[in-house]
Amino acid sequence: MSKSTLKAGVVTGKGYITLVEAAKSGGYALPAVNVIGTNTINAVMEAAARARSDIIIQLSNTGGQFYAGKGIQDAFAAKVMGSVAAAQHAHLLAEHYGICVAMHTDHANKALIPWIEALLDEGEKYYKQHGKPLYSSHMLDLSADPIDFNLGECARILARMAKIDMSLEIELGVTGGEEDGIGSDFEEGAENSKLYTQPEDVLRAYQLLNPIGHFSVAASFGNVHGVYKPGNVKLRPEILKNSQALVQKTCGTGNNPLNLVFHGGSGSEKSKIHEAVGYGVFKMNIDTDTQFAFSQPVGKFVKQHPRAFEFQIDPDDGTPYKKLYDPRSYLRLGEEGIVARLLEACEDLGSLGKSIAGA
Ligand SMILES: [Zn+2]
Repeated sequence: MSKSTLKAGVVTGKGYITLVEAAKSGGYALPAVNVIGTNTINAVMEAAARARSDIIIQLSNTGGQFYAGKGIQDAFAAKVMGSVAAAQHAHLLAEHYGICVAMHTDHANKALIPWIEALLDEGEKYYKQHGKPLYSSHMLDLSADPIDFNLGECARILARMAKIDMSLEIELGVTGGEEDGIGSDFEEGAENSKLYTQPEDVLRAYQLLNPIGHFSVAASFGNVHGVYKPGNVKLRPEILKNSQALVQKTCGTGNNPLNLVFHGGSGSEKSKIHEAVGYGVFKMNIDTDTQFAFSQPVGKFVKQHPRAFEFQIDPDDGTPYKKLYDPRSYLRLGEEGIVARLLEACEDLGSLGKSIAGA
């Protein structure tokens, strides 16, 4: 089997599909890391380059807003423009890191459909100019709404996205925990279709969406957003296996027809991660762990040099602290923290050394 290769940089359309297929057939998944600014985007690309792994970079709506700047009064405009700016940053720089980058947006519930549609307006403009979209994929998370509404909206938006070579990530069943205020606190129970994705719903989604365009499914199998005390989370990856089997049998497809996404990857058991990847998970979202990986070394640095964060020049002995309070000194430590955490994630997901970016 010949190994597919792609040009380094942001991949969209057929390139994105190639990236997804390479991961599934290669038995690995890619980290999908939430970013909020150039520091975090660059750290994620640096980590991917060091790991020789391709990578997925994503923005939540508030991540986009933060990227544009909290000083912008029109929060909606900031959410759109910040997300556009982040994608443009990646389009300009990703190729210089020598790996493939997929650009995604994270959870968009019903109230955030206008954010996605505004991003599609921008994506269509970009497509006209460059022959490719700004983003590889957007996510619509209408899992809190009735499934008819969820799938109907997904079909409508995917039809628009398919015209500019974009993929759509949908969610069936609600990921526990909380992310940007979007999440749930449903009671646990395998029968609870709110918490555990039902294979019948996945089949319905496949039959409706597959003829329209490329899509992936964030399935709920006990995964939660955030990091909790060990033992609080019971992952049931067999739910993924059952969904794949039902689609394969009913639609006569090959092995693992669904492109599955693992939300709430932070703090998950490694054996369950490996099992989920075996059932067609190609993308694992990581946010909480990289937030901590950035902040921990910064906190340590401030604690080691408290006077540099109080005085420009030490009032007792005249020591100048410029080198220490220059934000680059500690922001770089945060970036290095993200790089270290992502090297670990690439190892867990089996993506180390698997970049398909050609020389
Ligand atoms: Zn999520």
